[in-house]
Amino acid sequence: MTIPFVDLQAQYKTIKDEIDAAIKRVVETAAFTLGREVETFEAAFAEYTDARFCVGVNSGTAAIQLAVTACGIGAGDEVIVPANSFFATAEAVSTAGATPVFVDADPVSYTIDVGKIEAAITERTRAIIPVHLYGQAADLDPVFEIATRHNLVVIEDAAQAHGSLYKGRKVGALGRAGCFSFYPGKNLGAYGEGGAVVTNDADVARRVRLLRDHGSERKYTHEIVGYNFRLEGIQAAVLDVKLKHLDGWNDLRRRHAARYTKLLADAELALPREMPYARHVYHLYVVQTNERDALQKTLTEAGIGTGIHYPVPIHLQPAYRSLGHKAGDFPETERQAASVLSLPMFPELTETQIAHVAKACTRTVHVASV
Ligand SMILES: *Cc1c(COP(=O)(O)O)cnc(C)c1O
Repeated sequence: MTIPFVDLQAQYKTIKDEIDAAIKRVVETAAFTLGREVETFEAAFAEYTDARFCVGVNSGTAAIQLAVTACGIGAGDEVIVPANSFFATAEAVSTAGATPVFVDADPVSYTIDVGKIEAAITERTRAIIPVHLYGQAADLDPVFEIATRHNLVVIEDAAQAHGSLYKGRKVGALGRAGCFSFYPGKNLGAYGEGGAVVTNDADVARRVRLLRDHGSERKYTHEIVGYNFRLEGIQAAVLDVKLKHLDGWNDLRRRHAARYTKLLADAELALPREMPYARHVYHLYVVQTNERDALQKTLTEAGIGTGIHYPVPIHLQPAYRSLGHKAGDFPETERQAASVLSLPMFPELTETQIAHVAKACTRTVHVASV
């Protein structure tokens, strides 16, 4: 039995008629970029995230960059980000002209260690970007408390957390702004690239809207220098169809996660924990073992797809050599980078597939630890 890490074709089969009709409509009306399709999706996604505004852009990375810029942050400013995240969280801070400052990960939740944020604050710090990693909300209340005390902006990186809850509220618009990615493999994925900024702040929304389209609200009048970060109509139309299925898909992910957790209870693996303040949407189901490489190899040989999120922490990436970090600077992040393994996780997984993966894990881990 081959089990892919994600299976986007399986999902397409379940919504083919709706998707095909939506794409046909875009082609026939030629609403290819921004315009009606994008506005319809923006309204739906704002409503979904309980935000006043949603501005569609062409990637999650662009969403973070524009949110940072729209909050007035740039050259000379520092922005606190978790060391354990996808590279883009820090990269977008850099492309906005500011400097990322890393904070280690919490050993249980994998998200930013809120106890270590304050030590990273300097007089140049302007913002904190907590990441709702793997689909679980970061512990936001302590972040807001620190931010208020030091007069900092909070921008959520919700690229992996569509529909995720923090203390019963949708993540995204809980801080000044929240950034989503619609990369195909995300919980809400386009058929290409896409992203969005959600916010309750009319000024931030307006600035992101300007920045994504050459600083222009009216054709050929450019108020500021911006970018071409527009969301395409076909992507918006696909996303609007898929948004209606998101809660159902997230429920399935949660069911699959519960099943893994039950079947892996006796394996010598550290399993993901849902924190008391969070409703996890399991973008990834991440286990930990000291025998990670051996486990991945055996699963690969058994035809089971896995991933490592992320094998090299951001502070040790060649691109950030100039920041002067060395191994040992963020020990928990580095420990996780050496021990995490993401098991197959997508809504269309079957019980048989989950049982098969769990069995292969249990077998390998027992052999490896003998
Ligand atoms: C995917 C992702 C991004 C970047 O989104 P893109 O759409 O790929 O640009 C940023 N942050 C995190 C945590 C992500 O997982």
